Amino acid sequence: MAKKKKAKSKATKKKATGRKSGGRSWRDTIKEDYAKKQERSRGDYWNFPDGQSTIRLLPFTHEGDEHVFVETFTHRIEEGDATRMLSCPQAECPICELAESLEEDAARGLRPRRRYLANVIVRGHPDELKIARIPVTVHDRMLDYLEGDESEFCPGGLDPKKGHDFRISRTGKGLRTEYACIVVKRPCPVGLEVKPVDLFDRIGYAKEEALREAADKLSKLYE
Ligand SMILES: [Zn+2]
Repeated sequence: MAKKKKAKSKATKKKATGRKSGGRSWRDTIKEDYAKKQERSRGDYWNFPDGQSTIRLLPFTHEGDEHVFVETFTHRIEEGDATRMLSCPQAECPICELAESLEEDAARGLRPRRRYLANVIVRGHPDELKIARIPVTVHDRMLDYLEGDESEFCPGGLDPKKGHDFRISRTGKGLRTEYACIVVKRPCPVGLEVKPVDLFDRIGYAKEEALREAADKLSKLYE
């Protein structure tokens, strides 16, 4: 999809907008910036904002089966003031290998964090389809409602007409961030005609060089 956008921005470059001596207008250059932005945000996911949000989980189809969540593992690397997220391939990962070689206390911060991705409709004005990054605690609560102890409050499951929304509230910052998740007991129709994305096609792993480079930098900190 990003490739298509790039091609389009090249095509539009040709019909320069009356700028003399081949100089490009701001509109041409801003188009390039925009294409880059699209590319950059390709891997970006929607995260629960502070306060309360209401979402609807949308199952997607992969090789004939319906799925709701996809599990991912991400290394969170602090670099000065910035935080870098590198998605962990789980096998032959240089950062995981480094964590294995360290004492428990040092290894803890290096281990990848488990998260889940899901297609969700974020309720708002208007409702929007997003790919949400869902923390483990919220994911586990949702499973309780859909399949576990609390399924009596969620009899419609994820049925497009009789299914339920979830209400999530996020409080606190950084390591103190907390999430609460409850089901909306009354049935809420999906209401939006959207096509959920096959999330197995969507997850990508960090490049091996990037993982290796980060592991090398980190290992120096623990020498
Ligand atoms: Zn890893």
